Amino acid sequence: MNRFDEERRRLVESLERMGTIKTEKVKNAMLKVRREDFMWRSEEIASYQDSPQSLGNTGQTISAPHMVAIMLEEMNLSPGLRVLEVGAGSGYNAALMAEIIREPLNSKEKKSQVISIERRDDLVKFASENIKRSDYSDIVSVCNGDGTLGYPVKSENEIHDRIMVTAAAPHIPKYLLKQLKRGGLLLIPVGEQHVQNLLRITKNNEYKLRTESICECMFVPLLGEDGYI
Ligand code: SAM
Repeated sequence: MNRFDEERRRLVESLERMGTIKTEKVKNAMLKVRREDFMWRSEEIASYQDSPQSLGNTGQTISAPHMVAIMLEEMNLSPGLRVLEVGAGSGYNAALMAEIIREPLNSKEKKSQVISIERRDDLVKFASENIKRSDYSDIVSVCNGDGTLGYPVKSENEIHDRIMVTAAAPHIPKYLLKQLKRGGLLLIPVGEQHVQNLLRITKNNEYKLRTESICECMFVPLLGEDGYI
């Protein structure tokens, strides 16, 4: 066991003790996916500090592990789902979601998919390389684009079982709501630039939306046509 393995185990156990990690699937994924493989090179030493870390000089961050755990628990993920993430950043959260939704080896049908959109070219490259090196490219695709318009761009079809936005939005982008399947769930921080509410929106089979506020949070801004300008 190397130093990072030990630090990862300690962080996960502490998040479990605090009640942030609630389920075995989130715990196992956070034990398996190596955050050090998603850190900006030379910053790996801070991999298991429970705080957001800068992605070089991009002005963007890899989110704090406790925030990642809160969001993963709220997403209610299971194998076979199609998930859209807005804000790939380092690719860490996409890898964790892939780990949770991956079908068992003996399953015939392989439907699980994570599409992660990122607006910055340098981070599309960074996240794609991290995903490939960590062996999640069979499930995760990192795409370049403005995630406020959904994926495919401006599609009005109900496509995604789950949508997770990992940047702070001024409001809920309309194409994300449209693209959420009935029975699906959208998680998004909404509010001002310095503090937001993490919202959990569910769409029932009659197309009714229900919004719950989970907690306060602080994310970098969601920029784009239906985000902050
Ligand atoms: N999920 C990431 C991870 O696991 O490392 C952390 C995401 S970081 C807090 C927010 C990311 O959202 C940044 O990489 C930023 O460039 C991206 N972003 C902001 N606005 C966006 C948009 N309209 N479409 C796609 N990505 C966006």
